[in-house]
Amino acid sequence: MKKYDIGIDLGGTKVLCALIEKNEKDPQERKILFEVKKKTKKEKGNKKVTARLFEALDELFEISKIKKEEINSIGIAIAGQIDRNNGTVINACNLECKNLEIKKLIEEKYSIKTQVYNDVEAAATGELILGAGKNHKDILCVFIGTGIGSSIIIDKKIFHGVSGSAGEIGHIIVDLNGRSCSCGGVGCLEAYASRSAIESRIQGAVKKGRKSIITELADGQHISTKHIKQALDAHDEVTVQYVNEAIEYLSGGLASAINFFNPELIILGGGLIQGIDEIYLKTIRLAKAKALKVASEKTEFKKAELGDYSGVIGATLTEEYNNVIRNH
Ligand SMILES: [Zn+2]
Repeated sequence: MKKYDIGIDLGGTKVLCALIEKNEKDPQERKILFEVKKKTKKEKGNKKVTARLFEALDELFEISKIKKEEINSIGIAIAGQIDRNNGTVINACNLECKNLEIKKLIEEKYSIKTQVYNDVEAAATGELILGAGKNHKDILCVFIGTGIGSSIIIDKKIFHGVSGSAGEIGHIIVDLNGRSCSCGGVGCLEAYASRSAIESRIQGAVKKGRKSIITELADGQHISTKHIKQALDAHDEVTVQYVNEAIEYLSGGLASAINFFNPELIILGGGLIQGIDEIYLKTIRLAKAKALKVASEKTEFKKAELGDYSGVIGATLTEEYNNVIRNH
């Protein structure tokens, strides 16, 4: 077995390519040796996204001076709907990609075995094998950032569902007559508890004349997690109000998931959780309080441990993941 893998995390705002080294003595350890990050914001559509990705990969080979022959496999995590069997992107809204044969294109250009994952699944696999989920069996991983994604792990296996879409906790309905959601539905959790939900609530309030220091902090750009954190630290009234509102919905959604699934462990990750400790802590406290006692008393909460690298690391863990299932 060669000791290097390449992990790629392809999302709506950036592509991250990393050269990852396995530790032969400790199979549970991974080291990121080199990484290349490029923005994907304006580069949408199949052709531009692929070109950007190849540019990043070429640069990774260049700076690391590694040869293709030394690479065991490439794993790519993509924010979108994936066909696992043939490695195509069925639909990735944020990248405006449709029916993109990404596995085939990478294998043709680099002659390296490639595996395609959904980004949430990759991150959950990373957490299961190397992160917060290591010693657990029945886990719910929820990532709260621009959107809300989740993955259900039952008996150490990712539960995919009949069409592979299981775990869409961001689209459970929390308000029948509520806000519209990016999925086309109405009242989804994501429209109430994601970073973009907080952003649009704050912007709406500012438009109506309320004052918030976040306007200065963001300076005409979109409101990031960093801005939200700074505004919270400054006790900005508007930000505190809408962050608390998001936490109420998020903890309600998680309480429903606890009642429904009774997981051993809930791993929380994503920008809002990693970036703002008080959101993490308050969400846990309220979720436990809102759930049925019998369902929640044994449920543990942990923060995701692989952070920004969960996608690139998780995407290269295919073989280990299969071993975990086999040896379990
Ligand atoms: Zn939705």
